[in-house]
Amino acid sequence: MRRIPQLPLYLQIGIGLLLGLVWGLVSAYLQLDPAFTTNFIKPIGTIFINLLKMIAVPLVLASLLLGVASLSDVRKLSRIGGKTIAIYMGTTIVAITLGLLLVNLVEPGTKLPEETRQNLMSLYSAGTESRLGSAEALKKQSVIQPLIDMVPDNITAAFSDNTRMLQVVFFAVLMGIALIKVQQEKRTPVLAFFDGLNEAVLKMVELVMLLAPLGVFALIASLITETAGDNIESAFSLLSGLLWYSGTVLLGLALMVLVVYPLMLRFFTTIPVQKFFEAIRPVQLLAFSTSSSNATLPLTMQRTERELEVSEEVSSFVLPLGATINMDGTSLYQGVAAVFIAQALGIDLSLGDQLMILLTATLASIGSAGVPGAGLVMLVIVLEAIGVPAAGIALILAVDRILDMFRTVVNVTGDVAVAAIIAASEQQQPLREREEKIETPA
Ligand code: ASP
Repeated sequence: MRRIPQLPLYLQIGIGLLLGLVWGLVSAYLQLDPAFTTNFIKPIGTIFINLLKMIAVPLVLASLLLGVASLSDVRKLSRIGGKTIAIYMGTTIVAITLGLLLVNLVEPGTKLPEETRQNLMSLYSAGTESRLGSAEALKKQSVIQPLIDMVPDNITAAFSDNTRMLQVVFFAVLMGIALIKVQQEKRTPVLAFFDGLNEAVLKMVELVMLLAPLGVFALIASLITETAGDNIESAFSLLSGLLWYSGTVLLGLALMVLVVYPLMLRFFTTIPVQKFFEAIRPVQLLAFSTSSSNATLPLTMQRTERELEVSEEVSSFVLPLGATINMDGTSLYQGVAAVFIAQALGIDLSLGDQLMILLTATLASIGSAGVPGAGLVMLVIVLEAIGVPAAGIALILAVDRILDMFRTVVNVTGDVAVAAIIAASEQQQPLREREEKIETPA
């Protein structure tokens, strides 16, 4: 009992994940009654996710407000803001381009046997209906809807809805700016309050993480029990039908994590790549287990500040923003999925269509909330734009939950990489000089 907390966090979470996997597979194999997992194990996972979500809003509010108010210079804020959004857009475009290149090269849609295609369509069209309902609503929106949605009409409503994190970000930034402009004696007690709140919330992150191994175990065990149920064979046969598609998405995601981000870190920061990955290993595992950038956010912020020594000023602005608008994994997947569905349905896509995918997947990933399954719903925007029937998402539904886990890992990794780059650029020393100083101490 005394030993467990001494294991590094990533090992604790990793063990929870593995045990959850074993539990799910064994109980499916032995055809145990899934009600046990649903009634007794799943609630632990739900409590864990709820705890994380509960912390996210006060954490973003307190730390972002403090970060902005302490800048005491609105020009610096707009500089950091401009850079952050530009780099976020840049990485998203790289991700989609990579996805499009891979899917055009591999052509997974043409490798789908006709029988499997028919089966998948009919098996899953029922499950698609509810998603298509929300898709219908999406179609009526204007393209700048995400911008409009950023501004809350009621701040308590924004605080109470986990998918409206961007509205909390907006409120915190505005209030931070307002505080800069308020008289010092009025400002000081407000900042002191938020400072105390911030410290307390960070302690809450530590406390909640004590539950991480158990929470992750419960999440994975119930996920597997629910998806596989007592029908593990049919689940596997569906998966094998979509092997080329899943493989293409996973290859793209792997290239982002193993090539694109390390190159960015190498060129724009002095952080050794190995140190970066060690620091964020628990963050990646938590993102994998929860499939939610929002739920992972408290841990993302804590590790980025403590392990990568990114200042709170930068991390509290860049990371909450990234959890909502920067989704490299999601946008890459949307690019691959759109072309895959078109290929499977025998629809030819022109170069213009592919450019349209680039544009709409960028917008769709900005609009996707950091919650499980958000990317799939927003995929409809991309499909609509290129004239592919939205019902085609029935084809990819079977593997979406598992791919969601992987793309969320990429989403959070991208956020931290950009935070590290912004932090490095804000030291206001040319990179070469900094490196020379490190290599040849005076
Ligand atoms: N689950 C993803 C996230 O939270 C979003 C998605 O692609 O569905 O980052």
